[in-house]
Amino acid sequence: MAGRSVVVGVDLGGTKILSAVFDDDLRKIARKKTKTAAVNGSDAVLDNVSLSVAGALDKAKIPMADVDAIGVAVPGVFDRSTGVIIQTPNLPLSDYPLKAALEQHFSRPVWVENDVNAGTYGEYRAGAAKGYRHVLGVFPGTGIGGGLIINGELYIGSGGNAGEIGHMIIQPGGPLCGCGRRGCLEAFAGRSAMARDAVFLANSGAAPDTLAAAGTDYSAYTSKVFHRAIEAGEAAIVGVIERAAWYLGIGLANCVNLLNPEIVVVGGGLVERLGDRYLRVVEQSMRDHAMRGLADHVAVVAASLGDDATVVGAAALAAERSRA
Ligand SMILES: [Zn+2]
Repeated sequence: MAGRSVVVGVDLGGTKILSAVFDDDLRKIARKKTKTAAVNGSDAVLDNVSLSVAGALDKAKIPMADVDAIGVAVPGVFDRSTGVIIQTPNLPLSDYPLKAALEQHFSRPVWVENDVNAGTYGEYRAGAAKGYRHVLGVFPGTGIGGGLIINGELYIGSGGNAGEIGHMIIQPGGPLCGCGRRGCLEAFAGRSAMARDAVFLANSGAAPDTLAAAGTDYSAYTSKVFHRAIEAGEAAIVGVIERAAWYLGIGLANCVNLLNPEIVVVGGGLVERLGDRYLRVVEQSMRDHAMRGLADHVAVVAASLGDDATVVGAAALAAERSRA
């Protein structure tokens, strides 16, 4: 095994870390997923990442000396020129120089990327969008993240933060969004918005099955609860799901009109749980709202790599950037 060159991808989330080891052709050699408790300081995050990467390398029986580069995907906004995290939800890393700290720790080149960009890039390099050159990735979950591949390259924009699909405003003065503005796509089609509407209906007696299963606490309204409502045929909740999917399709139509992609890849927990029923409403709404000449030529598909998309993308970007 000596001298074998590998890359490592890390998906650093608020409650879990996934690390995976890949060979030169992005074939996965080993992966390690760890649930993490909430931590207070950046040192604890560093320890968790260190343990996770060591665990994946251990499983792969590959020493750190054979690692060419490490790609780390994080949620939130960071400064690309310095690798300093500016703001990240659920992790105590604001204003933290993550790239420098990890490079010092691992003595290897480290590349930091936004998690949605990494996920989109993973689907492009090895998943549902492989072989395409113009790709829109959208990941509806608690929020709605977006990533862009244009002319075969990840498009990050001037400051590195392109793709904030969830905050395109689709109704001026509409419902309040987590970002502080009103009427964003996320406030109609994100899971928090779906939970808001579902809890209202459950409270009003329109969805007794779901009320019994999930109560009236918003945070209990996971993708699993929505899936269960579909299985149980609870019409009021199915209506909430389809309305959210319809709004997501409107957001995608705006993106399709702007970007003329070949394929839209939809990933994340909602589409994984709700599957085709959800995705076909999204697709139909996109086709109903986008301009004909553009809508007719775009495929809408589910992501195929699941959890691994982000680590694949982070590893691929790290490998390419360290070679460049
Ligand atoms: Zn917003």
